[in-house]
Amino acid sequence: MARVELVNLSKSFGEVKVLHDLNLTVEEGEFVALVGPSGCGKSTLLRIIAGLEDATSGEIVMDNEIVNDLNPRERNIAMVFQSYALYPHMTVEENIGFNLRISGVSKAEKRERARAAAETLGLTDLLDRKPSQLSGGQRQRVAMGRAIVRNPDAFLFDEPLSNLDAKLRAEMRDEIKHLHHKVKTTSIYVTHDQIEAMTLADRVVILKGGVIQQIGTPTELYRNPANSFVAGFIGSPA
Ligand code: ADP
Ligand code: MG
Repeated sequence: MARVELVNLSKSFGEVKVLHDLNLTVEEGEFVALVGPSGCGKSTLLRIIAGLEDATSGEIVMDNEIVNDLNPRERNIAMVFQSYALYPHMTVEENIGFNLRISGVSKAEKRERARAAAETLGLTDLLDRKPSQLSGGQRQRVAMGRAIVRNPDAFLFDEPLSNLDAKLRAEMRDEIKHLHHKVKTTSIYVTHDQIEAMTLADRVVILKGGVIQQIGTPTELYRNPANSFVAGFIGSPA
């Protein structure tokens, strides 16, 4: 079943059109990377899917239901950003559990679920630490814990690793893929790094100037780039 579908989706800011008639279907369990140069509309598209921004025209469909009018919480989508924005005065456990505060769950259940999320991410030994006592990778993991604790139907990642150094980036890349399978979720992963996209994703969407250039598996894109932009961008020999 299609978990997330975009149908003729467009977005303008005032007179400026930044997303042009996008059509995309993301199947349940799929890992899709959205890649393109800075300013091509990646973050705007993710924010529209998450419900943080309205589309100008077109539809966002989740599990066959049009969700354009649903707020972020009603869409049950989790978003992970590059800036972790953890609460400095709260422990790891409190940070992870924070998103449950207004869902009406009991204190005991909140604790239980925060601990389960921490275990999934290998953070069990760090539950009582404050963010300042964590490494960059650990902080990123707490941010992911905060996202998975609500059992979202889909994960949206907006360049979550761009603040990390190269070694840690490679490590966290593997961890995100692992997490995707472990919690059996659907992921849309935005990056401007084509290598990250090609190594992580089941399918890759190439965006340029708010227009989808091509959608395909990494192998398809590499072997059969639709145009010279795609070829150049992913370093295909064609
Ligand atoms: P990316 O994430 O691919 O770098 P963005 O989605 O952030 O690109 O931006 C796409 C385009 O939309 C850019 O030209 C940007 O300046 C513009 N833009 C983004 N947000 C706004 C906004 N709130 N108001 C006006 N223009 C915006
Ligand atoms: Mg962006």
